Amino acid sequence: MKDIYEVIILGAGPAGLSAAIYAGRSRISTLLIEKAQDGGQIAITDVIENYPGQMPEGESGPTLIERMSKQVEKFGADRISDTVKEVHLTGSIKKIVCVNGTYKAKTVILATGASHKPIGCKGESEYQGRGISYCATCDADFFEDLDVYVVGGGNSAVQEALYLTKFARHVTIIHRRDKLRAVPTLQEKAFANDKINFFWDSVVEEVGGDEVVQWMKVRNKKTGGITTVKANEEDGIFGVFGFIGLVPTTRLFEGQVEMEDGYIITDEDMKTNIPGVFAVGDMRKKFLRQVVTAAADGAIAAMQVDKYLTEANNETYYG
Ligand code: NAP
Repeated sequence: MKDIYEVIILGAGPAGLSAAIYAGRSRISTLLIEKAQDGGQIAITDVIENYPGQMPEGESGPTLIERMSKQVEKFGADRISDTVKEVHLTGSIKKIVCVNGTYKAKTVILATGASHKPIGCKGESEYQGRGISYCATCDADFFEDLDVYVVGGGNSAVQEALYLTKFARHVTIIHRRDKLRAVPTLQEKAFANDKINFFWDSVVEEVGGDEVVQWMKVRNKKTGGITTVKANEEDGIFGVFGFIGLVPTTRLFEGQVEMEDGYIITDEDMKTNIPGVFAVGDMRKKFLRQVVTAAADGAIAAMQVDKYLTEANNETYYG
């Protein structure tokens, strides 16, 4: 461990790992801090189809991330598992206060990603882990041969619905409009799958049951009509998986880093409003949130760190 690193990277999703690969390869002294497992959202994604150069068959989030983590190791970044409590980003030396220690660096790359948005129905928090889930790869096998409902209409909802068909008896996608947002290839797969059907123009109002989810009220937005979905008596439960978008994990940086709707504002060099502080990946305000764009952000930020450090050194040298 160093007293002062050249860069600290917060978060080991694809953006943070890519930044650590590029920084390590440039011989920048690097500390990568992650509180849980590597990969962020991709660690719980079953199928990756669109990362260039991936294994053509059988690439999953975890297999892709495992290779990225090995590359980080190869290029020599220090790593710790710790949870960030507060950050002091504005000075020339940035301080990251974690549960187990305080770490210092000349620059910081924020790569803390995003997490699921709650469905927003009554009973949601009460029944989390008792029928309500946000992770198909984690919880699909609890619903083997049971009915499952997926809320959302984007890439995540459709991709995870397809995955859930490997376990569930039947999967119903509940979408608030009459058209999916997901890319055409995913839509085609979903429409062709006999196990999937749709509740269009619909939102979940409430879930309930005796200990576990046994009923759900779904409102049709066009007619206003409420349908009560009930668990089959023999099953005694059904699953409700929420995939309605993301909330950026940026609360810790509020008041220091400029944001819009919770997303950090950067320029195309990943620079935030604070000199020496960069932001990458899903937490950043941008058009396309994918593994490939997260990895690209990480590479750019690491190279900008290199430039920032060189310029700071030159200033010190020439006075
Ligand atoms: P998303 O693309 O933002 O889609 C969210 C979906 O949820 C939309 O269909 C939206 O409806 C619906 N929705 C939003 N708020 C809602 C609410 N309050 N009640 C009911 N429905 C609501 O989010 P995502 O699918 O979770 O994906 C997150 C990001 O990861 C996206 O950038 C996505 O492209 C990316 N991703 C990519 C892949 C891939 O490329 N293979 C896979 C997974 C995720 P409307 O359509 O009406 O707005």
